[in-house]
Amino acid sequence: MSQPDTNDTLFERARAVIPGGVNSPVRAFRAVGGTPRFIRRAQGAYMWDAAERRYIDYIGSWGPMILGHGHPAVVEAVQSAVGEGFSFGAPTEREIELAEAILTLMPSMEMVRLVSSGTEAAMSALRLARGATGRKVIVKFEGCYHGHADALLVKAGSGLATFGNPTSAGVPPEVVQHTLVLRYNDIAQLEEAFATQGQDIACVMIEAIAGNMNFVRASQAFAQRCRELCTQHGALLVFDEVMTGFRVGLTGAQGVLGITPDLTVLGKVIGGGMPLAAFGGPRDIMEQLAPLGPVYQAGTLSGNPVATACGLATLREIAKPGFYATLAARTRKLVAGLKSAADQEGVPFSVDSEGGMFGFFLLDQLPQDYGSVMKSDGARFNTLFHGLLDRGVYIAPALYEAGFVSAAHSDEDVAATVEAAHEVFKELGRA
Ligand code: PMP
Repeated sequence: MSQPDTNDTLFERARAVIPGGVNSPVRAFRAVGGTPRFIRRAQGAYMWDAAERRYIDYIGSWGPMILGHGHPAVVEAVQSAVGEGFSFGAPTEREIELAEAILTLMPSMEMVRLVSSGTEAAMSALRLARGATGRKVIVKFEGCYHGHADALLVKAGSGLATFGNPTSAGVPPEVVQHTLVLRYNDIAQLEEAFATQGQDIACVMIEAIAGNMNFVRASQAFAQRCRELCTQHGALLVFDEVMTGFRVGLTGAQGVLGITPDLTVLGKVIGGGMPLAAFGGPRDIMEQLAPLGPVYQAGTLSGNPVATACGLATLREIAKPGFYATLAARTRKLVAGLKSAADQEGVPFSVDSEGGMFGFFLLDQLPQDYGSVMKSDGARFNTLFHGLLDRGVYIAPALYEAGFVSAAHSDEDVAATVEAAHEVFKELGRA
């Protein structure tokens, strides 16, 4: 009998002590089947699993690893911070430096508060929006994921999409009764919501380039209408840029669309792979937060000195001239290569990318909303996913997730990825 794969052994052990064997659902390969790869180490564009198989990594820890794994400047900053202490529960100069760096790069924000996860940042931004406006209703869009705070866990994409539940159990209807879920890119529906409830709407929260239903852009007209209606009705426009911030470009999705939100939610890249996230906006709104104002928000590990060192070192690298031009060109090369390979094999395929973020669908046309995304063929995606994984290319194990290219991905990595995909498209073309 052959030896069991080390990943299988670890998965069995994990499942005995951790629900589903994972600490975040999409890692479990539930949608695509098979055994999740237990990662032992990573460097540059590559990760190695417990059986020492190498993968070209297009997940990048679900977004943060924009420089690739183990960038020397980041490793050095983290090592030096560790030597000075892990956590003090008191303010540090590095928190000011990181806040200043974020505010310099994102002009829509005058003040920022640091937290430890995107969930916490979105949840806090929501409370602040309600506190600052004195209103209850929040508008979100189908397929947008803003972390797992109760009020936002309605028709969210990402892991929730693969489990087929519109909303999580454990969220009583009363808790989401003020959450209005509208169709993404549907201007008429948005206008109707404001016409009927405009005076009660505290905020509109949106992923302006949605990465939790794969990759779907808000149209310019839709994003513009969100801005206008919020302004007219005294509601706050909240851009959740946990995924897109410093990923689609130096000024996020707001820079790409040329729209200034009231509040911005950040995460992932700003921590460079450490638990760090943030939310920010105009001074008068941010000063509603405790200890200055009545909106309470706090965190034992907020602004953690090791995490801020990691984030700062990352931001310094990505702010260098030409960083995003190079990253975007490499990402475009990848998606163009995939598209051309799919076309050659007669496989319906549509792709899009912005900066270092990309998405593709086994559909002729790019979907504009969650309903169209859900029409994707899961079985064919699973064949593609496993075909790539077997060939050493690691993409997200669910078709509702965006992909990420890092500065460490070389042209050779891109070429090897396209070649691997081409082989799988041949199979799909025949099926
Ligand atoms: N908002 C968006 C847009 C996200 O993509 C995510 C995570 N993928 C979150 C919020 C939640 O962040 P976290 O997982 O760090 O809690």
